[in-house]
Amino acid sequence: MDEKILTMKKLLDTSHFTIAITGAGISVPAGIMGFAGMNFPVVMQMTSMTVLKRTPEHYYKMARKAFLGPMFENGPTLAHRKLAELGKQGLIQGIITTNIDCLHTLAGSRNVAEIQGSFGVNKCLSCGKHCDDVQIWNQGKCPRCPDCGGLMAAFPVYEHIGLLDREVEKARSWAAYADVALIIGAEGSYGQVYYPYLRRGTKIVQINPKNTQFDNMAMLNIRATADEVLETL
Ligand SMILES: [Zn+2]
Repeated sequence: MDEKILTMKKLLDTSHFTIAITGAGISVPAGIMGFAGMNFPVVMQMTSMTVLKRTPEHYYKMARKAFLGPMFENGPTLAHRKLAELGKQGLIQGIITTNIDCLHTLAGSRNVAEIQGSFGVNKCLSCGKHCDDVQIWNQGKCPRCPDCGGLMAAFPVYEHIGLLDREVEKARSWAAYADVALIIGAEGSYGQVYYPYLRRGTKIVQINPKNTQFDNMAMLNIRATADEVLETL
């Protein structure tokens, strides 16, 4: 593994534009399973506007267990914090994530494209007011609209796990510039949303203890967790 990490460091040092693409795997040490790891009824309830409207207390309890507790009490993970540091050092230009947990932003990363939205993208279910601040979910209960008192819902709920166009656009434009792409804890290319936009010749480094769809595309496969690898940087 050491030699592979050295190669990765060299790539990072010589690259002009590096992106990180992260999936559920990076958030596991914070206690988040991601939708893929949850059973179907939980996913249905977590993304149900009806459950949120009828029983906000129940919704909050569920969200706290699955996401909010890990986000505000356990996270961000070492890997999230390292990526934020690399961003500040100018070694990473953008992070594309399918995760909705805001852990990159909470770790201090600025250029993050959350292509499935997140708890940081919210809308009032009564008057439609938007609030792009994840901290509204850090107050022990479901957040209410400051204007009308209606319930605020996060993007994966009010859009039923859709794609957030403005973030997808950002992800695609970064992909088109990338000399190096670090793919971290992501299992697949997520319906080709950003993958085909990587420019030809982008060097792909994958960090994942598991086999994934990216195995054949990566010039370097580092079989370890994100924390184990990024700790060495
Ligand atoms: Zn409102």
